[in-house]
Amino acid sequence: MDSKKKKISILGSTGSIGTQAIEVIERIPDCFDVQALCGGDNIDLLVEQIKKIKPKTVCTKSEKNAKLLKSEFSNIKVLFGDEGLQEVCSDKTNDMILVAVSGKIGLKPTLTAIENKIDIALANKETLVMAGDIVMKKVKEKNISLLPVDSEHSAIHQCIKNLNEVSKLIITASGGPFRTKSIEEMVNATVKQTLAHPKWHMGKKITVDSATLMNKGLEVIEAHHLFNMPYEKIEVVVHPQSIVHSAVEYLDGSVIAQLGFPSMHIPIQYALSYPNRLEGVETKSFDFIKAARLDFEEPDYTKFPSLKLAYEAGKKGGTYPVCLNAANEEAVFAFLEEKIHLGDIYKITAKMLDEHNNITNPSIDEIFEQDKIIRQKVKSMF
Ligand code: MG
Repeated sequence: MDSKKKKISILGSTGSIGTQAIEVIERIPDCFDVQALCGGDNIDLLVEQIKKIKPKTVCTKSEKNAKLLKSEFSNIKVLFGDEGLQEVCSDKTNDMILVAVSGKIGLKPTLTAIENKIDIALANKETLVMAGDIVMKKVKEKNISLLPVDSEHSAIHQCIKNLNEVSKLIITASGGPFRTKSIEEMVNATVKQTLAHPKWHMGKKITVDSATLMNKGLEVIEAHHLFNMPYEKIEVVVHPQSIVHSAVEYLDGSVIAQLGFPSMHIPIQYALSYPNRLEGVETKSFDFIKAARLDFEEPDYTKFPSLKLAYEAGKKGGTYPVCLNAANEEAVFAFLEEKIHLGDIYKITAKMLDEHNNITNPSIDEIFEQDKIIRQKVKSMF
């Protein structure tokens, strides 16, 4: 029944979330009609996806790749670059857009989609970290749904019935590869040691952020915006088994948590199929006996100072989170290129926040301008 199919477009189809989203969609093809696929540099994978999914529109990063796709797929509309993403997000026939691109390129297309009253499944942290106030205001104004794809926020979304009755959000963190290592081992860790995440397979940038717990800090800022929750009521708890994906405490003392073996298929499918729950990729029953035990501990803020830094930047608001995000990302890139030590990422980010001239209630243009200035400043250090 075609009329019942949800029409969706995917920004970032060749990335980690994008490819898993396609696995979800292939598993339940009667539920979704993919309008557009937007991929990055991995043109071979994009071609493979086009052949399988047969979208009406495709968007690629460069004009060169667009020409290549045009010659191979004459019956498909081929777009490229930022303008291409804008066009995809302006297509009002979409019921939902999955924003799974990484980095700040996700922000403008997301705003365009919201403007066009299209629901969003959000897997792009920068959108809320950089411009949470503007984005959530627009979501309210246009009365659309913005569903989180991040496993922690998906868990919280699944646990919340009435926001007014919530007393606290509890975001869990696996603790990453350095949880049991010394501070010295961590600050001098190699790229390889840092990328060896014990529980989740993700892109390189987010894996480094998971090792420093900056990822958790960015998630705290996201949660603040998504659930309109003051920072004082958002707690991070280290939970090495990654079974409890996050929890919500209510005014009466009840705590509701969402559990499952680590898999991104579940939060992706939940966001895409919301408000329905469908049989999915992970059909195995959760096994409490196999999970055996669940451990929880306080984050070590001395070893993971980036987490505290994110709380501080979030509380200050304005363009502080923009500064945090831009400085951290450029420092992570420098680390991945082996120009700095892992421990330097925090030092650089803290220095940039220290020197930051805040803008309160920034416009989108001011946000992008600050982002650019901060990135240039960090790059000039190496
Ligand atoms: Mg997460």
